[in-house]
Amino acid sequence: RKGNVVITGASSGLGLATAKALAETGEWHVIMACRNFLKAEKAAKSIGINKENCSVMHLDLASLESVRQFADNFRRSGRPLDALVCNAAVYLPTAKEPTYTAQGFELSVGTNHLGHFLLARLLLDDLKKSDYPYKRLIIVGSITGNTNTLAGNVPPKANLGDLRGLAGGLNGIQSSPMIDGGDFDGAKAYKDSKVCNMLTMQEFHRRYHEETGITFASLYPGCIATTGLFREHIPLFRLLFPPFQKYITKGYVSEEEAGSRLAQVVSDPNLTKSGVYWSWNKGSESFENQLSKEASDAEKAKKLWEVSEKLVGLA
Ligand code: NDP
Repeated sequence: RKGNVVITGASSGLGLATAKALAETGEWHVIMACRNFLKAEKAAKSIGINKENCSVMHLDLASLESVRQFADNFRRSGRPLDALVCNAAVYLPTAKEPTYTAQGFELSVGTNHLGHFLLARLLLDDLKKSDYPYKRLIIVGSITGNTNTLAGNVPPKANLGDLRGLAGGLNGIQSSPMIDGGDFDGAKAYKDSKVCNMLTMQEFHRRYHEETGITFASLYPGCIATTGLFREHIPLFRLLFPPFQKYITKGYVSEEEAGSRLAQVVSDPNLTKSGVYWSWNKGSESFENQLSKEASDAEKAKKLWEVSEKLVGLA
């Protein structure tokens, strides 16, 4: 049978390119889990994804109710779940004031981390039940959260501190809207959320890999300077960022190339190692990359897991 893969945020950028790459193989049915149903359907059509190989299901990660509803609806569809890709993200680098999810969490961490944390926890049982030859849970990471890299050292740097803001509910009322308890900074909130994504992947690996055989992995697909992720940035940045990445840092990858990298992490029989953060070298070969000290801190990962469980109502 075909594999079934859920991809969050598949209505544009990396998620859409990955959906196309997997659907084209004819071996996968892609469930595009998107907040804007119509946009997702149009995007799939415009990029030429065959209707037989994909379906769209509504998911708004900025609402925990929507996440729970998605998990129920998915189960009701009767499809087995063989791979889950947590890809969607918001990036608000120019926001002066924080905005919030339905439950009142700062939007970037609320969407990118907490929404995905609940989704992945709810769908873990479904992944366990899959009889597919391999089953995978992939959480998209980023170089920007890794302070052991040049890109990760551009201020404001990621730093979760002692998680006091997160533990306080990240709501800007009883607590700071930032994980470390500091003042709101949209660019930092995004980077912090990506550190959470990478820590969560490793904690899943430690808790569940042996017992379930599920492969847990993360990746940095390269700098896809043309996606919608930068839509909130100032126009001059949007104009100069792609050529800067292409010709100066040479970290640029096209959406298509990045999509084939993520598709590889989902489906390549050789990439079954769990607990890995994948990156690609200049020849487009995958390798196991090193995470920064904070993004590989097992103590912090455990604490993040426990605090997040409380916030999303699992503990
Ligand atoms: P895009 O902005 O193109 O895609 C983000 C997707 O997330 C969109 O489909 C968007 O939906 C969706 N999304 C946002 N908020 C929600 C929500 N509340 N519920 C459901 N879906 C939501 O960005 P990219 O493709 O660049 O980003 C994809 C991933 O790649 C992210 O995890 C990002 O961190 C990561 N990444 C990107 C890099 C880059 O250089 N671009 C580099 C490294 C990592 P909608 O279409 O409705 O807006």
